[in-house]
Amino acid sequence: MSTLNQKIALITGASRGIGASVALQLADDGFAVVINYSSNSKVADELVQELVKKGHVALAVKANVAKSSEVKAMFDLIEDRLGAIDVLVNNAGILKTAPLVQTSDELYESYFAINTQGVFNALREAGTRLNDGGRIINVSSTTLALNMAGYSIYNGTKAAVEAFTKVFSKELRGRQITVNAVAPGPVATDLFLQGKTEEMIQNFAKMPPLERLGQPEDIAQVISFLASPASAWVNGQVLRANGGLA
Ligand code: NAP
Repeated sequence: MSTLNQKIALITGASRGIGASVALQLADDGFAVVINYSSNSKVADELVQELVKKGHVALAVKANVAKSSEVKAMFDLIEDRLGAIDVLVNNAGILKTAPLVQTSDELYESYFAINTQGVFNALREAGTRLNDGGRIINVSSTTLALNMAGYSIYNGTKAAVEAFTKVFSKELRGRQITVNAVAPGPVATDLFLQGKTEEMIQNFAKMPPLERLGQPEDIAQVISFLASPASAWVNGQVLRANGGLA
């Protein structure tokens, strides 16, 4: 049971980018937020300080989502410090595009370990530990609909996440927990911007009919809806948030 008088949201990969924006939004929505990260404790701690200054309850927890033992320990720690989780946002992920024939064993393994097994590890814990009536939101990608060269392994990791979303929503029957995915188009974060020329970035920005890149807040608003009572009847769905790109 929560020792707090508010619901608890765990956002994986929340120190930067989309996850950080989700943490800010869900805190504004009234959740106590847990900011997971895997390496850079400085930025995670700064985000916690920013939230605490605004009067929110926030906690940073270091755990590599690819390691089931670290994910289990993270759930244990959160339950000890705050209480049982109500909302899980599986957001942690990596993107390193490469043609399939140039993909090393190491890149393939780290991709699936973080983007796919990371989601599995957290879903498995959440399946028995999330409070009834809770919400699970997995982060997929619109690249799955675009089939661009260089994205085969990344898309493979996200196709699995969408499959988990649809089946897991049925396996949680009776718990009043919804499981949905959000599939963003290009969003201006380190993950998207790193390694791209200005011309490549502008080309991506022109692709959606709304003619701009997504901002982390665009995705955070959608996740906020899926985490809220307003989305109670949306379950097992993949919601693309991409300005009409696909
Ligand atoms: P980002 O800016 O690179 O941020 C990634 C976050 O994940 C950081 O907080 C990072 O913290 C954390 N992280 C990375 N590996 C981790 C691990 N093994 N365990 C726990 N945390 C880990 O990425 P983003 O653009 O916000 O992307 C977030 C999600 O959206 C990803 O799943 C991505 O595939 C998806 N997405 C992004 C876009 C886009 O255009 N940006 C589009 C579609 C989908 P540390 O640095 O401390 O590890």
